[in-house]
Amino acid sequence: MFDAIIIGSGPAGSHAAYLLAKMRYKVLLIEGRKTPKQSINCSGIIGLEAFREFDLWDVPVLNRINKFKFISPSGKPFIYQSDSDLAFVVDRSGFDYYLTSRAISAGASFLDESWVRKILIDENEVNVCIQSKGRSYKLRAKVGVIAAGYSSPLVEMVGLKSPLRFIEAAQADVYGSGFDHTDVYLGNRIAPGSFAWLIPLGNERGLVGLTTEKNSVQHLQFLLNKLKAEKNISRVTNLQHSVIPLGLIPKAFTRRILVVGEAAGQVKTTTNGGIYYGMIGAEIAAQVLKKAIQKNRFDEEILHQYDQLWRAKLGPEIQLGLKLREMYSHLSDSKIDMLFSIVSMDGLLPLIKKNLNFDWHKGLILSLITKPLIRRLFGIKLQNVDCTQES
Ligand SMILES: Cc1cc2nc3c(=O)[nH]c(=O)nc-3n(C[C@H](O)[C@H](O)[C@H](O)COP(=O)(O)OP(=O)(O)OC[C@H]3O[C@@H](n4cnc5c(N)ncnc54)[C@H](O)[C@@H]3O)c2cc1C
Repeated sequence: MFDAIIIGSGPAGSHAAYLLAKMRYKVLLIEGRKTPKQSINCSGIIGLEAFREFDLWDVPVLNRINKFKFISPSGKPFIYQSDSDLAFVVDRSGFDYYLTSRAISAGASFLDESWVRKILIDENEVNVCIQSKGRSYKLRAKVGVIAAGYSSPLVEMVGLKSPLRFIEAAQADVYGSGFDHTDVYLGNRIAPGSFAWLIPLGNERGLVGLTTEKNSVQHLQFLLNKLKAEKNISRVTNLQHSVIPLGLIPKAFTRRILVVGEAAGQVKTTTNGGIYYGMIGAEIAAQVLKKAIQKNRFDEEILHQYDQLWRAKLGPEIQLGLKLREMYSHLSDSKIDMLFSIVSMDGLLPLIKKNLNFDWHKGLILSLITKPLIRRLFGIKLQNVDCTQES
């Protein structure tokens, strides 16, 4: 019997497997897809803090980000340049492969091309039913970790509920020239209620993508046509679309089960990045599972600590991000243009520089709403922004 079976070898699952294997527990990581995975719908931007915190320095980096060019609906630019690197762009398939290999090197067992179809929980163990290459079988563990991404049926199968709200995301690979820095496009024609991006990957390659509430593929086609007219894009391939949760899972544990990563809504609601928050979720899950395994107790009372700890760390950011997104979604294009003017002309750059943190946005949001012009634009009354309350 395994101490823990972890389902899903994305960043959250592989990192949880690595940490538990390092503690010398008997861990099995299961992945449905063939590894290395071919093409994952993700831009692969990871902040410097995650590299430091999770010792990711051996991960091959495609590009470094220290400059963003924001483009308003009417085409006004606002350039943010940092004195040092803010984030790195990695090949997402290579990144997942790196994390899975690190877990295996630390002692985790790994199965790929193996889909978990059912999870059965009883007094003494968790039974994980696997289908792999035409064969079905069961494996046993003391505890199971669901790290299978958003809207996995496994979450409901164990009696929990996935986060209800989500956003669509579409992205394509582009080839051409003149991709100099990371462009961020705002406006209701391109990405209503959200934003779009062009990320240079080097070697005349880039990623063009966006998130939006609906019709993401149509919006991406519109953006690609616009960019083809403005830039030198010779080829577009690999257009993919998927969904990203917006908000927290109501409960991320039950007897003998924890839910981590995107499956639990551990995703920034401002930028929709989920790699760093999912790995934080995995760290907290591993700490709580260490205690549970030592005490040989997998009841709700002990696993509840996981829910408390990750919500305390990520909850306020996720909730405040949701509120900001809600307010932003009501801005017309002319108001978004006005926002660009305020930020450019009102001497806000020093405030932004002081408070910007690539992964934690609460400080910046709260500092910006001290400015009356910003509050007026968003129609904010200060007492509306109580980010400590979970909704
Ligand atoms: C277009 C786009 C761009 C993005 N860009 C960024 C970015 O730049 N930076 C960032 O931080 N985040 C980004 N994200 C979000 C990020 O990709 C996710 O938040 C992240 O992948 C979540 O990691 P995870 O480990 O929780 O789940 P996943 O990465 O989804 O991994 C889950 C794994 O579980 C496997 N699985 C699922 N069901 C089963 C099963 N039944 N049995 C076995 N295996 C199973 C899946 O095959 C998968 O490999 C982006 C998302 C999109 C759509």
